[in-house]
Amino acid sequence: MRAGVHRELCESNAVCVALAPDVFDLDENGLVTAIDDDLEDDQAESVRLAIPSCPRAAVFLREAGSTGVDDA
Ligand code: SF4
Repeated sequence: MRAGVHRELCESNAVCVALAPDVFDLDENGLVTAIDDDLEDDQAESVRLAIPSCPRAAVFLREAGSTGVDDA
């Protein structure tokens, strides 16, 4: 599994960064970024915690090979 983000939804409150700091970060514009690697089990678990905690429903889990960043 990999992490995905809908950057256009992000309100830059860093909740996901606090819950999964080795997966998510904020870029220089304050928008969420996610590592593009296969997640370790503990990383995937931290993403599962971050998903319902994001007030904008902007983070998700995806299969490797699917689109992970949505800048639309
Ligand atoms: S928790 Fe959601 S809104 Fe907050 S920084 Fe992460 S993706 Fe953006």
